[in-house]
Amino acid sequence: MKIKFLGGCEEIGRSAILIDEKIVLDYGLRPSDPPEIPVGKISPKSVIVSHAHLDHSGMVPSLMSSNDNSAPDVYLTSVTGDLTQLMSRDTIKVGRDQGFCFFGVEDIKKMVAQTRYVDYGERIALNSSDYGADYEFELFNAGHIPGSAAVHLKKESEDISLLYTGDLKMGDTRLMESAALEEYPSSDILLVESTYYGRNHQDRKEQEREFIDSIKETLNSGGSAIVPCFAVGRTQEVVMILHSYGLTPYVDGMGLSAFRTFRNHPRFLRDADELNNAFNDSVFVNAKKRKKVLA
Ligand SMILES: [Zn+2]
Repeated sequence: MKIKFLGGCEEIGRSAILIDEKIVLDYGLRPSDPPEIPVGKISPKSVIVSHAHLDHSGMVPSLMSSNDNSAPDVYLTSVTGDLTQLMSRDTIKVGRDQGFCFFGVEDIKKMVAQTRYVDYGERIALNSSDYGADYEFELFNAGHIPGSAAVHLKKESEDISLLYTGDLKMGDTRLMESAALEEYPSSDILLVESTYYGRNHQDRKEQEREFIDSIKETLNSGGSAIVPCFAVGRTQEVVMILHSYGLTPYVDGMGLSAFRTFRNHPRFLRDADELNNAFNDSVFVNAKKRKKVLA
């Protein structure tokens, strides 16, 4: 099994791991200014996407146009599929404002046509003659955001296996159940996310209380608390925390679209009712109301 890293090493962003020139695990974008993309030009037969964050999925549509007659199959969970479309459309919009263009609407349409939804625990064989050897993979809940998956890939002809965790979260959050590490199979090769390597996380409850205390302190002294959040996963977690402490936030941005997508896939959530209640009790901000809210 030949493994090539096309990005995501000693950096956060543009994760892309090429296996035997045929299968790519994630194909992300580093949303820096200007954005950075995976190195080299590749024509894989299959793309397996661990989760919908841009740094793991953001460049998948670009693989469609370079392969006019043989666009790769794209394997991901259903919620990751919906979110990847949402994020890709947003990337086109941001690119128009900032002067970059990596793919177009046609590529997104092609990506949708090439998409094969996969459930956790489902074994998928990649065994056409295109592959030269038989591969099989399976996805496991990675606990990071709804639909996030670790990928276990086996290459039958070499009797070798690889586990790629993608982004991994151990321990429950309000939005997600912890990664089911006890279900992960053993593997010959382990590629593990290491963003927080060597750092201990603060106790989650303690951190929540500090966050809430600082918001209350701001409000009590007549201020407004603005909480900038990533749209997919973080916004929903923060809204759920605020709701549990009886605070009603105004919610703006793409986090609302991501919430609506999550709502359509309740089985990927720890508690869909809790998420719905938190958003039902929030105030959604539309463009017309934005100035008024900030005032
Ligand atoms: Zn992520």
